[in-house]
Amino acid sequence: VTDVLARLGGDEFAIIQTGCHDQRASSIDLASRISKLIAEPFQLQGHRIEIGTSIGVALAPEHGSDQEQLLKKADLALYRSKSAGRNCFTLYDEAMSAELEARNTLEGDLRDAIARCLFEVHYQPYFDVQTGRRRGVEALVRWRHPTRGLIPPDLFIPLAEETGLIVPLGEWIIRQACDDAISWPADTTVSVNLSPVQFKQAELFDIIESALRKSGLPPERLEIEITESVLLERAVENHAFMERLKSIGVSLALDDFGTGYSSLSCLTAFPFDKIKIDKSFIGKLSKRHKSLAIISSIVTLARGLGMSVTAEGVETREQLEGLKTLGVNFAQGYLLGRPVPIDELNDQPQSYRSRLDAA
Ligand code: C2E
Ligand code: CA
Ligand code: CA
Repeated sequence: VTDVLARLGGDEFAIIQTGCHDQRASSIDLASRISKLIAEPFQLQGHRIEIGTSIGVALAPEHGSDQEQLLKKADLALYRSKSAGRNCFTLYDEAMSAELEARNTLEGDLRDAIARCLFEVHYQPYFDVQTGRRRGVEALVRWRHPTRGLIPPDLFIPLAEETGLIVPLGEWIIRQACDDAISWPADTTVSVNLSPVQFKQAELFDIIESALRKSGLPPERLEIEITESVLLERAVENHAFMERLKSIGVSLALDDFGTGYSSLSCLTAFPFDKIKIDKSFIGKLSKRHKSLAIISSIVTLARGLGMSVTAEGVETREQLEGLKTLGVNFAQGYLLGRPVPIDELNDQPQSYRSRLDAA
């Protein structure tokens, strides 16, 4: 027997394998042979070239008997291979369809929630380590789901980014944060997280400016938090955008510092005012000497570059004391205050000393 090979378009191909004794074993055998063959390096005009391939497999009649169904399921399996990295193959299973369905439901719910504004911005304070005074709060979004309750951002921001829904959602968050911040004392800054997808949006600057104008919040009281993943692409445009924000008085913080690849070059290439050390370093602070060395050198580095340093994820008094000794400027974490709705925030004392004493 001969198999049928077809090109579906672009770099996508399909093979119909027929007449096998054991479908699973034969398809796995074929897929691994193809993977191996394609992975072999070859010469092209004097260059050594290496490519990979991702494969998804569906079986007939087990997974369906019409063409559309089979291709759809093979495609789902293919997606799994692609997200696992290159050079692998995946056999379809029913859980993949269930997952797709759950994702589609979530996406539908998310669209609906944006239309109906079912989100809340909670605020987590951060404090000056030396004086104990509150210096600002970070805006952290939550989704008030009608049946599932309050959903944390990790569970919907990635989907919002994939689907582009982060653009309207992000705009709402910026406006809400500025509107809320105007009611706080003049020395309290509000920090808003921006996703890489928002960064590609041409109107982002106008949205920020309009949120400031409409709320009346002085730009000096708005801080934008970005992770370095934002900066990897379109460096020239991003740089210009950041300079524009700075020119009107908005400040910039590099979030999750220490978790990426190019942190150091980011710091000199982009006009940041602040570094936020990722909580993974703070969590290890009491146990591991290496974290101490890392934090201490970040503080030195930041000082040299004229930037301030926030430690996030501060959960114990020991950590807070350690950070104080190391010269970190600001601290944020469950020890000092969890993210809370605005009413609760407004009831809190504005210095962490009184909070800790009360605790
Ligand atoms: P992030 O920007 O690193 O925010 C800090 C996260 O750490 C928050 O989680 C906060 O609740 C949590 N956290 C604060 N103190 C402590 C602590 O002492 N210990 C521990 N273990 N965790 C602490 P949250 O609110 O679930 O947010 C998760 C992530 O979702 C954020 O990480 C941010 O990347 C993203 N996110 C949240 N709000 C927004 C938003 O409005 N826009 C965008 N684009 N992303 C957002
Ligand atoms: Ca953040
Ligand atoms: Ca962070």
